[in-house]
Amino acid sequence: MLAASASLLNIPVVILDVGDHAPAKQIIHPRAPALAHVDGAFADPDKIRELAAKAEVVTVEIEHVNADVLEEVQNAGTAAVHPSPSTIRIIQDKYRQKEHLIAHGLPVAHSVAVEATPSAISAATERLGLPLMLKSRTLAYDGRGNFVLRDPADAQKAIDFLGDRPLYAETWVPFVKEIAVMVVRTIDGEVVSYPVVETVHKDNICHLVFAPLRHHDPAFASRARGIAERAVKCLDGAGVFGVEMFLREDGKGDILINEIAPRPHNSGHYTIEACETSQYENHLRAILGLPLGSTALKVPSAVMLNILGGSDSMDELVDFSRFALTVPGASVHLYGKAGCRKGRKMGHITVVAASDAERRDRLRPLLEHLPGGTS
Ligand code: ADP
Ligand code: MG
Repeated sequence: MLAASASLLNIPVVILDVGDHAPAKQIIHPRAPALAHVDGAFADPDKIRELAAKAEVVTVEIEHVNADVLEEVQNAGTAAVHPSPSTIRIIQDKYRQKEHLIAHGLPVAHSVAVEATPSAISAATERLGLPLMLKSRTLAYDGRGNFVLRDPADAQKAIDFLGDRPLYAETWVPFVKEIAVMVVRTIDGEVVSYPVVETVHKDNICHLVFAPLRHHDPAFASRARGIAERAVKCLDGAGVFGVEMFLREDGKGDILINEIAPRPHNSGHYTIEACETSQYENHLRAILGLPLGSTALKVPSAVMLNILGGSDSMDELVDFSRFALTVPGASVHLYGKAGCRKGRKMGHITVVAASDAERRDRLRPLLEHLPGGTS
């Protein structure tokens, strides 16, 4: 999606990923053949150096990259790196990310670092109570690094599930809603935010994103956007950031930051059809020092639905996508991933509408036809 946006602006993009047909490499740019994408892992130091040698600006679409090599590239001064490698390093370690936010006075759930032993987990339970959210500090995504401990006797089960990775524990947040705000940061450190959206997760994976969030308190949205903007202000480098937040149960409408993604984010996919400038285009504009585009909604109501694999079969996806094309206001995005698996993000659909009621009517048949009956 970043490459597609770049193509419209005639900005050539070189991609580092495994294989000739990695999704981003399927976007054709007139000048791309001469640039030749790089075949390799985005954590491989030599491959990152090879990519950087071809680029004026290096950016990431995943935070699980080699921050040390990106720093080396930045220090060499041949290519700019956005966001800054120091930001990527802070965000890569979720516990360090929490400490960073606390140090800047931002609201987050109480957390403690824990060793992967039953006694350390039991001590964390004494401090933070049950249920306890145990998380892997690194390499986590789509809930794959999380274990909800409800019974202290399950500590070993948690360790087996999370594997041999550094862990930390978080207080359970009985949220009423999860919300998110995309924030764009310029090279000079100015920030602008997109509207607040409501995100709905299923099995820890983002399922739906509703834009905009409706809230009875008219001041709520600017408060949430203010917190997200402050969080991104305390991180270095340019680009778009996704700020995931919890809206807590205690009725005061208070907000906790869950985590920050230093890149275009699933909760911002809706911006492609629903906002005046998409998160991808604004990411490019930010990292290239171009004027930012308006982040305002251009439709009254929108929803984004992730298309997750229902099984190993692509056929279900094809059938579902054909059906989605019959829904008014629906835009289908298929990522061109080589294989389908149950729960794998294969694409998404954004539905725009003239009202929340129309959005609901348009979304309903899509949910009824989801692959694998996952609605
Ligand atoms: P990931 O990197 O997989 O997105 P998150 O830390 O965002 O991991 O957790 C995934 C989901 O798990 C969240 O969107 C939320 O639904 C739930 N979750 C995470 N932390 C907590 C918590 N402390 N209390 C309650 N639910 C949580
Ligand atoms: Mg998350």
